[in-house]
Amino acid sequence: MRKLALHWQILLGMILGVLFAVLLIQFDWGKGFIVDWVKPFGNIFINLLKLIAVPLILASLIKGVSDLKDISKLSQMGGRTIGLYILTTILAVSIGLIVVNVIKPGSFISEETRIELVGNYSNDANSKIQAAENQKNVGPLQALEDIVPSNIVKAASDNGNMLQVIFFAVFFGIALILIPQDQSQPVKAFFDGFNEAILKMIDIIMLGAPYGVFALLASLIAESPSLDLFKALGMYGLTVVLGLAIMLVVYSLLVKVLAKKNPKFFFNGISPAQLLAFSTSSSAATLPVTMERVVDNLGVDDEVASFVLPIGATINMDGTSLYQAVAAVFIAQAFGMDLTLGAQLGIIATATLASIGSAAVPGAGMVMLVIVLAQAGIPEAGLALIFAIDRPLDMCRTTVNVTGDAAVSMVVAKSVDKLA
Ligand code: ASP
Repeated sequence: MRKLALHWQILLGMILGVLFAVLLIQFDWGKGFIVDWVKPFGNIFINLLKLIAVPLILASLIKGVSDLKDISKLSQMGGRTIGLYILTTILAVSIGLIVVNVIKPGSFISEETRIELVGNYSNDANSKIQAAENQKNVGPLQALEDIVPSNIVKAASDNGNMLQVIFFAVFFGIALILIPQDQSQPVKAFFDGFNEAILKMIDIIMLGAPYGVFALLASLIAESPSLDLFKALGMYGLTVVLGLAIMLVVYSLLVKVLAKKNPKFFFNGISPAQLLAFSTSSSAATLPVTMERVVDNLGVDDEVASFVLPIGATINMDGTSLYQAVAAVFIAQAFGMDLTLGAQLGIIATATLASIGSAAVPGAGMVMLVIVLAQAGIPEAGLALIFAIDRPLDMCRTTVNVTGDAAVSMVVAKSVDKLA
């Protein structure tokens, strides 16, 4: 085990986890055993990663911003980062719209399947749909209002609210630049050391990664819906996955053309983070590892990574936006609706915003999908249609979300001459 590269160890853990669950489910007691005795280890692993996420964002952003030494450098890097994030997201939605219009997965759903799926959704789906409904009833400036926390401890304790922690950290970092050096120096030294200790904690947590993903995958398999559903929704799932795969090609090009690096080098370096994103379905939980890989393996300067990545994990979700576009059009197709070009252009705008607003936790993208549906006038009951296979698609889109952040961090680093 020791000699295998980390991504192979993680991959092995994933495969063994799936095999273990498939084998055990053959026996009647298998499912209960996995839920009682295996799943907790997966949860512990995710908890450890999440535990590290907030202090990491805080320490690394404060350090990252205050290291910039002047505000103009900050706004230059900030502008490029946000610009690239929005650009890649719009590209992702457009790719999603193209593949879903070409493949038309909705036409593969028969009338009976649709009625059955929409009619029979479970309580779990019901509560998700309720959460989604609530999303819709907020004012236009709510998203802006939500960025500014009234209480930093509360913001840090609320997992969905990383944007508030980022706000505080950037604000604090700016203030550190503005005060005299002899006063800022001890504070910066403190956060330097703090940051190093957190990075060490990540190293230690990652020793357990192959076992953690084993437990996560085994429990996912034990709790996954029946194969019949996968068959009915297969075309839709494939459409999402195809779109996501195209996005990976786009990142290769970005890395090659703009960052002047070999895509193979990029994917080799980032693969442990991708596998972890796939296993945890959470960009936030994956962030510590993304940061570590980008700095240690891809040569992005610490200063850039600690600024670009926490923001990316929170607002840049290319996979999610692509998925939302495909899902919305798929539901419309399944309900026999024709979407005009205007409605589809509207989806570009709403899916971009909805993905920015999605929290970096499992299932968030589906909850925010309701905004896209409402805006395009697509029946929300359609959420029940896609609910059953949301988790596997969540795993795939989170992988793309994390890959997109890493690719942009390389491009930004190159543009400010901070790429080794
Ligand atoms: N799980 C995704 C993420 O953390 C968000 C989503 O549900 O699309 O990036």
